Amino acid sequence: MAKIIQGTQIARAICDEVRTEASAFCRDFGLPPALAVIMVGANPASEVYVRQKVIECERAGIRSEEYRLPGDTLQADLLDLIKRLNRDNKVHGILVQLPLPDHVDAVNVLDAIAPDKDVDGFHPVNVGRLSTGSDGLIPCTPLGCMKLLDTVIDELRGKHAVVIGKSNIVGKPVALLLLERECTVTVAHIATQGLPDIVRNADVIVVAAGAPRLVRGEWIKPGAVVIDVGITRQRGPDGKALLVGDCAADEMEHAGAVTPVPGGVGPMTIACLLSNTLKAARRLVHA
Ligand code: NAD
Repeated sequence: MAKIIQGTQIARAICDEVRTEASAFCRDFGLPPALAVIMVGANPASEVYVRQKVIECERAGIRSEEYRLPGDTLQADLLDLIKRLNRDNKVHGILVQLPLPDHVDAVNVLDAIAPDKDVDGFHPVNVGRLSTGSDGLIPCTPLGCMKLLDTVIDELRGKHAVVIGKSNIVGKPVALLLLERECTVTVAHIATQGLPDIVRNADVIVVAAGAPRLVRGEWIKPGAVVIDVGITRQRGPDGKALLVGDCAADEMEHAGAVTPVPGGVGPMTIACLLSNTLKAARRLVHA
């Protein structure tokens, strides 16, 4: 029977550690680590994510500032706010909740965030740091995937890892992190031919495709570790809403370990946001 990687518990332990360290930071520097969260327009999913982030910050002793801007906010005004937060010594992390309204150029906005406050790790400077293996802020979901892998695999070096999905926020950064750990990495995507045979060779599979039940049990080498990043909202047979991953969860019994959906990668994303904010705060006070 595959081990179930308990993302919720692992994330809770990280949040507890951040709380201890945030309180030490506050004692040492006379102010708490602080995160500014900016949301533009009303988007129900973003509302939920922002609320969760703010609640977890509070629990961990990280001060949060929420900026809820109307949907017709001018890009120039949003950029002015980011510039002001970049200069504010009491703010250590800045996060712009995506998606942004169509009239706002998300690339311009994310590029305006000071790289050392870019706790989402999306700024080109942090992308560059990640690709050169230097110490930057790493995107939260990929960082969470690596922390989960470290709970079940002692040595990633030399393992064959298959990443399914090549997005800038999950697939590509996960692939770079695995490469940095000296895995042999194959990145698959929508145009990949012969995906089942590629996955059959993998010791580690990270799937972030947003395609429910894409990865089947018969593709999995016995003992392989499967990290399922995918989250798709579906209706169950009883009509109730449910979240499903990219793996056929009921076919994974011969895997070595698998993450559940929900309760796997999802909680790690917020935990890593908190640890990135603490890391940014420490670096900024020592800069
Ligand atoms: P995306 O749409 O930007 O990218 C999806 C990638 O998967 C693309 O590169 C595409 O080529 C590939 N793909 C799609 N269908 C495929 C298929 N049938 N075969 C092979 N490759 C396929 O998505 P994203 O933003 O990277 O997110 C991926 C999934 O992860 C989504 O379900 C999203 O909700 C979830 N997600 C979860 C978290 C979390 O915190 N748990 C965070 C981010 C994203």
